[in-house]
Amino acid sequence: MNMLKRISALILSFITLISLVSCGKEKEPEPEEYYSATFFAMDTEITVKLARRTGETDEDENALFHDEAYLSSVIKECANLVSEYESALSRTKEDSVISEINKETDYFFDLDPEVLALIKESNEISELTAGAFDVTVGTVTELWNVTSDGADVPSDESIEEAVSHVGYEKIETDGATLRKTDRKTKIDLGAIGKGYALGKMIDHLRASDVDYGIVSFGGNVGAFGKKPTTGKFKVAITNALDTSKVIGYVFVDDEFVSVSADYERNFVKDGVVYGHIFDPETGRPAKSDVISVAVLSENSAYADALSTALFVLGTDGIKDLYKALAGTDVAFEAVAQLEDGSVYLTEGLSGDGGFEEYKEPETTAES
Ligand code: AMP
Ligand code: MG
Repeated sequence: MNMLKRISALILSFITLISLVSCGKEKEPEPEEYYSATFFAMDTEITVKLARRTGETDEDENALFHDEAYLSSVIKECANLVSEYESALSRTKEDSVISEINKETDYFFDLDPEVLALIKESNEISELTAGAFDVTVGTVTELWNVTSDGADVPSDESIEEAVSHVGYEKIETDGATLRKTDRKTKIDLGAIGKGYALGKMIDHLRASDVDYGIVSFGGNVGAFGKKPTTGKFKVAITNALDTSKVIGYVFVDDEFVSVSADYERNFVKDGVVYGHIFDPETGRPAKSDVISVAVLSENSAYADALSTALFVLGTDGIKDLYKALAGTDVAFEAVAQLEDGSVYLTEGLSGDGGFEEYKEPETTAES
């Protein structure tokens, strides 16, 4: 066949293909599975993906689909909700409840019951984790201010001074009142606030008319409902040694995944990476054998707080806490990446359907 014939045969088969396709296309194409929108709050990009399908069917057995106006209004409600939590829980917003507590002027504070309950819950997690998670690290995080321009290593004296005000036992709650026994103690809910707000957002979504969806909130992911195809949502876990890659995937439904690592919020000085997660005992960036840890839990605030704690505690701490919480309503599973690049999995993820390790695609040699 000469070149001209070949081209015309190609054009002909292309036209036939187009007409076949258009003949078969009697119905409108189905909309994509998700309607999605992104907004920014709590220092984080938040992406909400909601299923378009209502799950009901009309007389023709065709699935009904939400209109975009409805899905967009649901996402707007979520954004408003998160922004309310940000106004209350932020350490840096001057008029937040937390900023009020962090003023060094008083010992007693009458608080909004929800904020008080969250601080109380935080202190319970501190007890569970032997203080590895401790929201009174505020003086330490303020001192290091790792995400600021020109962040530097503070002096030993200033670290000691900051650490002297850390300790969850310095915060007591009684009825609607919070009491600081150390006026200089500062609260930082950075390790639990996003998870808490995400949990509330998912509660709101569950109460909406949307069948299923997934929300990505910085290092936290929450899923609700069941995907009709696979049932579960596949969540990728970033490789802390090369953030352009993943170490693998976990599968969730009606569950939360929270990742703590220091590859995003940190500064580098003389070749040393100083991360944003602190050991409350030393007032210095935490250093264990774990470089990144993903926690799976049905409780979003716990997933968030525990991932921070497990980053501080390392694999021995993960094993102990796993045993201690197994069978409770705050049981968890975890995927930890260790400094040598290997992956540690808790028992519940070790079998089939747990964690799917990422495998580099096989490359075939070209001749
Ligand atoms: P996450 O990314 O959830 O692990 O939370 C880390 C954030 O929580 C930091 O940016 C600090 O604001 C705060 N934080 C750091 N270390 C701790 C700790 N040991 N316990 C509680 N909060 C912490
Ligand atoms: Mg956390």
